[in-house]
Amino acid sequence: MTDPSEHGGPTCGTGDRGLPGAGLVKGLAVTLKTMTSRSTTQQYPDVAPELPPRSRGVIALSEENCTVCMLCARECPDWCIYIDSHKEEVAVPGAARPRQRNVLDKFDIDFSLCMYCGICIEVCPFDALYWSPEFEYAEYDIKDLLHDKDHLGQWMATVPPPPAHDPNGEPAKEETAAARKAARPAPPAVRPDADQDPAS
Ligand code: SF4
Ligand code: SF4
Repeated sequence: MTDPSEHGGPTCGTGDRGLPGAGLVKGLAVTLKTMTSRSTTQQYPDVAPELPPRSRGVIALSEENCTVCMLCARECPDWCIYIDSHKEEVAVPGAARPRQRNVLDKFDIDFSLCMYCGICIEVCPFDALYWSPEFEYAEYDIKDLLHDKDHLGQWMATVPPPPAHDPNGEPAKEETAAARKAARPAPPAVRPDADQDPAS
């Protein structure tokens, strides 16, 4: 059975020890403590909030890195990434046939549907998508939350630099390979006349 004193029942105000006014003193002590402690309220928008540098505010697109592989659009659980492209032939000097490359025509993200899961950024194999901590892009019209590739590209200026490498972490594969190559003994020098017949 519930103790009525826990919910301000008939014994409220007398405290656990039954002293008259003990509850009132206890309440005033809490008020006094709150009044004299430092406030943590931030006066947004006059004071900008101190967000962690890797906050998920908005998604930025580095258009030149995008190869239109469509992985992000396929993996997005909300289907809020819309991509269009066309193929273009590129002449390669010395090649028998021209190469084909994808040209991005449209890359839109609908932030009214996005749930900020970050899957698109995780799956992009070409580092074309990034999180920006910028969050002040609320709109009066929900249709304006559809950001096209130019708008997504503008967010790149707000993407923080990558964190410094962990000094105790494993070195990158490229660094290991370069060090191994440098440590390899140099091949013996070939004399220009080595392949000539000594009898001739
Ligand atoms: S963060 Fe998630 S929901 Fe938003 S666009 Fe990327 S994959 Fe889709
Ligand atoms: S996964 Fe990356 S490279 Fe592929 S379409 Fe999306 S943004 Fe472009």
